[in-house]
Amino acid sequence: MMEKHEPERVVILGGGPAGLAAGKVLADHGRPCTVFEQDEAVGGLSRTHSYQGFLFDLGGHRFFTKKNELDQFLRALLADELIDVARSSKIYFRHRYFNYPPTLLNAFFGLGPITSAQILLTFLREKLRYQKPAIVTLEDWMVSQFGRAMYEIFFKTYTEKVWGIPCSQGSAIWAAQRIKGLSLLATLKEAVWPGTKDRPVSLIGSFKYPAHGIGRISERLAQEIRKHGEVRLNSRAAQILHDGRRVTGVRVQTRDRQSYDFPGGRFFSSIPVTELVQNFDPPAPPEVLEASQALRYRDLLIVVLLFDAERITQDTWIYIPDPEIPFGRLHEPTNWSPAMSPPGKTALVFEYFCFETDPIWKEPDGRLIEMTRESFRRIGLAPGAADRIIGGCVVRAKKAYPMHEIGHEQPLQILQEFVNRFGNLTLIGRYGTFIYNNIDHSIETGIQAAQNLLGARPAGTGAIPPDEYLEVKYE
Ligand SMILES: Cc1cc2nc3c(=O)[nH]c(=O)nc-3n(C[C@H](O)[C@H](O)[C@H](O)COP(=O)(O)OP(=O)(O)OC[C@H]3O[C@@H](n4cnc5c(N)ncnc54)[C@H](O)[C@@H]3O)c2cc1C
Repeated sequence: MMEKHEPERVVILGGGPAGLAAGKVLADHGRPCTVFEQDEAVGGLSRTHSYQGFLFDLGGHRFFTKKNELDQFLRALLADELIDVARSSKIYFRHRYFNYPPTLLNAFFGLGPITSAQILLTFLREKLRYQKPAIVTLEDWMVSQFGRAMYEIFFKTYTEKVWGIPCSQGSAIWAAQRIKGLSLLATLKEAVWPGTKDRPVSLIGSFKYPAHGIGRISERLAQEIRKHGEVRLNSRAAQILHDGRRVTGVRVQTRDRQSYDFPGGRFFSSIPVTELVQNFDPPAPPEVLEASQALRYRDLLIVVLLFDAERITQDTWIYIPDPEIPFGRLHEPTNWSPAMSPPGKTALVFEYFCFETDPIWKEPDGRLIEMTRESFRRIGLAPGAADRIIGGCVVRAKKAYPMHEIGHEQPLQILQEFVNRFGNLTLIGRYGTFIYNNIDHSIETGIQAAQNLLGARPAGTGAIPPDEYLEVKYE
């Protein structure tokens, strides 16, 4: 049965930061909109979960933007909820902890003069090369920025742990988007002249954080939307209905197995673009469906250990590249905001990067908690702390990262060209654009799409201008 609505209602697929930011801008302008979110809460990957009074993000989420407009948007939204958090990261390597990103000085004292000399020499070799090699793979990019020794020692193992593929198969676009401007030279400059204006985003020393977790951004956005529009939870966009030129509605499936058709005039989609095209009814052409199968995602499993202790670590993130240790990163939410744990208690959140087809995905929660406790003991981070564990829980997040493998551009283009045939459908967010982005970027795509629709900005796809993402600085 098709629900009846005013013809220009905007339908938004996905209640993460991108979809909700779009909805807020529309609601602010009195434009009717409905957000469909498959989960029981908003936030997507930026949701803050809770368990027995402990709050935690899926891996600590910092909000950072260099754009004034977005900064103002966040401040206006969260007002007095924002706190300043000092960034401090470490990397566990050869049974020791180093600052992250690693500096030459740090490596010198930690790794000794011979390894440090290798780092310096291989870095200089890259910088002094007469003919610079083409930068195609993730490995090419990291070697060019850090030199081969630093790449082999620090970056290769961690990056391969995150992605589950060799760095030689990852696209350089990943690094360009994610750790833009970061290089050995940049980290050295930062050590000598801290706080320069042009420092890479990866080296930013402090950031804003909502006292009750990053999920507050999405919760506040949803509250704003509900003043004029609606957010329907437990509602999956199961099929995309269309007439070949325009999307006409979505078939919604609720958790309690109800199904109904919902019409709309305009559609914004922040759900995985692969899933979107696979659910077109009538179906998308075979070549489009084939392209959608070629794009992959990396999944994430989180184990949270609860402690009867005030504080276990001092840092915001701790990276664990060691292949012998099954998790890749951990953080202590209480270091981000004391409000994240009950008084006198704390928690550690361990990230396992994996594919949902890996055996670990199906391990029972109890076994995962035990395995994490054991590995936590092995990394020697806080001797004795494992004896103060009072509980734990597990969260599995599918499609946590879009994978930028070599050759992913062509299938992505096929999907984008197909979607562009539908004049009233706009792709937004991390999964609409299939870009390994951050919250601020996702919010920006949502705001732009809404503003385009309202006529506040020139027409466009809603995507962030390419230079923000694709520029790589070689110094
Ligand atoms: C471990 C980790 C750490 C991160 N750290 C940071 C950080 O420090 N700083 C930062 O800025 N960013 C960080 N990010 C990235 C950030 O989480 C994302 O950029 C952001 O959440 C993307 O927002 P989005 O709305 O585009 O997508 P999502 O958050 O993925 O939201 C999409 C929503 O669509 C819903 N959905 C999917 N399919 C359907 C369907 N068929 N029907 C209805 N709903 C559907 C999903 O349930 C989800 O709620 C991190 C990500 C991860 C995984």
